[in-house]
Amino acid sequence: MSDSVDLIVKNGTVVTSDATFKADLAIKDGRFVAIAEPGSLNLDANEVYDAAGKYVLPGVIDGHVHFREPGLEYKEDFGSGSRAAVAGGVTMVLDMPNTKPATDNVEHVELKRKLAEEKAHCDFGILGLVVQENVADLVPMAQAGVVGYKCFLGETIGNIPAPDDGMLLESFREIASVGLRVGFHAENNEIMQHLIRKIKASGRTDALAHVDSRPALAEVESIQRMGLFAKHVGTKVHIFHLSSKDGLDMIDEWRAKGVDFTTETGAHYAFLTSDDMRTLGSMLRMNPPVREPGHGDALVAGLVDGRVNAIATDHSPHTKEEKLNDDIWKAISGFAGVETSVRLFLTYAVNAGRMTLQQYVRASSEGPAKTWGLYPRKGAIRLGSDGDLTIIDLDKKGVIREAEMHGKNNGNPFEGHETTGMAVATIVRGTVVARDGEPVGDPIGRMVRPVASGGDSADAMVSTAAH
Ligand SMILES: [Zn+2]
Repeated sequence: MSDSVDLIVKNGTVVTSDATFKADLAIKDGRFVAIAEPGSLNLDANEVYDAAGKYVLPGVIDGHVHFREPGLEYKEDFGSGSRAAVAGGVTMVLDMPNTKPATDNVEHVELKRKLAEEKAHCDFGILGLVVQENVADLVPMAQAGVVGYKCFLGETIGNIPAPDDGMLLESFREIASVGLRVGFHAENNEIMQHLIRKIKASGRTDALAHVDSRPALAEVESIQRMGLFAKHVGTKVHIFHLSSKDGLDMIDEWRAKGVDFTTETGAHYAFLTSDDMRTLGSMLRMNPPVREPGHGDALVAGLVDGRVNAIATDHSPHTKEEKLNDDIWKAISGFAGVETSVRLFLTYAVNAGRMTLQQYVRASSEGPAKTWGLYPRKGAIRLGSDGDLTIIDLDKKGVIREAEMHGKNNGNPFEGHETTGMAVATIVRGTVVARDGEPVGDPIGRMVRPVASGGDSADAMVSTAAH
């Protein structure tokens, strides 16, 4: 190592999942090369960021976004979505496979990678889709670098039908053979479709009809069944956008039986309830729906004690024409989230005294990295790890305003919320990619592969770790 580095972040308070300490950090060639006492680094740097009075976190990873490319660029693309991400403090995203074409074979993984690398401002991972027809594509997709897989068990955006149980079990075996994780949109389709028909027939078009048509039991049943398959085959499994206390309890039951089961939740499930559907109407329509009061508190408690592994936004933008409708059945599910998640959790969890900053780091950085096999390349501040940082001003106040956001369709149910705490700088592999909520510089995002499949050598890092 020469004496010159790319970036020094000085005078900040570093926060990891298990420690909070003052340190200066140096990044060279995209990696942390020094973690030192404040003022002790004797290195030339191309750039110095003074983080005095700020908290320096491992880069926040949003493990669930829909950047809509290829095929649905009128809603979002990798340029606009990743600008929103870095503006909000996110250094890496995992993109969901329900694009057009769907990310269901090697060719489509490559297509998405090329499109994304032209314009991504943050790093990204790609998930492969599991459908009835593509069991032979699952292992090749792993070789092409997907971080894991997604399977839709219930009807949602894109109308991707679930594989039948025989094919699903075969897919579980293929995925187990490559050691990756498969995640589920967990809603029992038969329960939902029955209730949707019945409630529609009753003449209801109000927003709460959507909640009533997709009960927590539909989520619990799916989790129970995927746990059974995972237990039988030995596959690592994940539940996307967990919405209910009952679902978390069912995940715990399978963990107790030895299943490697992870899950995630987002700000809307944590901080909003079905009562908010009355005032927000179709803006809050999401699959699965927000739940009755009580579930959100249980999910926050799960993030605090680690039973919910990760915060993920399910950033799923649509146009206003698609989204807003007084008839809830005619409104589409999903809304923007990648730009607002950090400040919402700082406001309603950390600054509200419900979660420590260290617990937040576990849920926002380390948790998603460990879930998807990216740790310690991502999600850690240690020598050799990627120099990704989210720098936080815990006192900075603001108001969530769609008009100031950076995606193509920024509508979200938190419009007008006053927040305390936000990201003031976002750093990807040693490059500052956003300052004070504004993206800066050219797109530098790269696809990240899981550590175990040749993405990086974890061993080289562990031996030199300072903390
Ligand atoms: Zn989603």
